[in-house]
Amino acid sequence: MNDIIRIMQAADQAARWHKSQKRKGEAAEPYMNHLLEVAALVAQASDGDATCIIAALMHDAVEDQGIKFDEIRALYGDEVTAIVAEVTDDKSLPKAMRKELQVSHAPHKSSAACILKLADKTSNVRAVVETPPTHWELERKQAYVAWARAVVEGLPYKPAGLLSQFTEATAAADAAFGRLASA
Ligand code: ZN
Repeated sequence: MNDIIRIMQAADQAARWHKSQKRKGEAAEPYMNHLLEVAALVAQASDGDATCIIAALMHDAVEDQGIKFDEIRALYGDEVTAIVAEVTDDKSLPKAMRKELQVSHAPHKSSAACILKLADKTSNVRAVVETPPTHWELERKQAYVAWARAVVEGLPYKPAGLLSQFTEATAAADAAFGRLASA
C-alpha cells in the first residue's frame, strides 16, 4: 500500500482512539494535536520515513488508551509495533520509577525510537511553557524540563535539526521559569 495512504489511515485511527483525551495543560487541547505535532517533527527528522511517522501517531495508544500491542501489530506490522514498544512505559510500575527508567534506558534505544523520544519531549516541553497544567507549581515545571533534558542527553542518536528544536524549547522554558538550581 502507498505510504501516504498508510500514514493517513494511521492518523484517522489515532484520532478515533484518542477522541475523548485532552492534553494536561490549561488549554485542554485535543490529544490529537500532540500526536500530530510529534508525527510532524518525526517526519522532518526521519526524512519522511513512513514506519517512523506511523509509530509516532501510535506512540501513546498503549499507554493512554489501553490499546494492545497485538492490535497495532495486526494493523501496522512488526516494525511499527517494535518502535511503539520501545517508547511505551510499563504502567504497572510507580510513576517515579517509570521516569527513572526512561533516563536509564535512553542509551539503549534504536535510532527510530530516539527520533520519536526526542520529538515527544520537544512537544511536551513546548506545552509546559505554552499551556502548563494549572496546578503545576514553578518547581514542578522546572523539574519536568530537567528530567526531559536528562532523557534526551542519554539518547545515542539525535538528528541535528530536531535537537535544535528541543534546545529551543528548553531555552524558552528557562526564560519563562528559570532553571532548577540542582540541574
Ligand atoms: Zn507523547
